[in-house]
Amino acid sequence: MTPFPIPAFSDNYIWAMHDGRRAVVVDPGEPAGVLAWLAAEGVALDTILITHHHPDHTGGVAELRSVTGARVIGPVREAMPEPLQRVDDGETVAVLGHSFSVIAVPGHTLGHIAYYCADVSGEPLLFCGDTLFSAGCGRLFEGTPGQMHASLSRLTELPGNTRVCCTHEYTLANLRFAQAVEPNNQALQAYAQRCADLRSQGKPTLPSTLELEKAINPFLRCAEPDVVRAAIIRAPEVTQPDAQAVFATLRDWKNQF
Ligand code: ZN
Ligand code: FE
Repeated sequence: MTPFPIPAFSDNYIWAMHDGRRAVVVDPGEPAGVLAWLAAEGVALDTILITHHHPDHTGGVAELRSVTGARVIGPVREAMPEPLQRVDDGETVAVLGHSFSVIAVPGHTLGHIAYYCADVSGEPLLFCGDTLFSAGCGRLFEGTPGQMHASLSRLTELPGNTRVCCTHEYTLANLRFAQAVEPNNQALQAYAQRCADLRSQGKPTLPSTLELEKAINPFLRCAEPDVVRAAIIRAPEVTQPDAQAVFATLRDWKNQF
């Protein structure tokens, strides 16, 4: 099974995969693209996974459920299109014969969860919603910088070859910010060139991998000397530049970038 990004709205991806018969989709903000993909692939929708309550992730759930009869799984703590099976941190759910663990990742929203499977066709896979983006991270609509930093730290403990399926194609804009933070990061420069090429061909930059994100994503690099230095220049009032304070400075800086 290979995760496929169904484009939605201007920059959302609805991640979808199937086993030849049954399919799962993640965060369907609208139904049309999913229904077209199901028809084109000739598969039946079995499961809808939801990471958090925002409409661009849940807006297609009601119609997809009524058209396909798919079951819906979502976070325990958020307002959701009922009925659904609610899951919490530490639980596992079986999806198309694969076991996904639920990881609570508060920050973008307070009840935000991610879904992780250690082995989908030989490699780990993460659906992280609006928590981790390639070269960036989600905005803090509900949580604190400390919560988001802790959430991202949990995700970075997963294996480096984990494929990271983020819900938005924000990579090029994130890379402009990342390069302002770390102008001397060679891996970042090479990745920015690769992503610019992909986008100019109309191709997605995702999925990424955790290994790559750890090398280029400033929000995962809050203890790197160059990132700490950039944060101190940006916010000289930060006298205790621990990783969490650096993260808070970066998040604030990115909001104004
Ligand atoms: Zn969101
Ligand atoms: Fe979103």
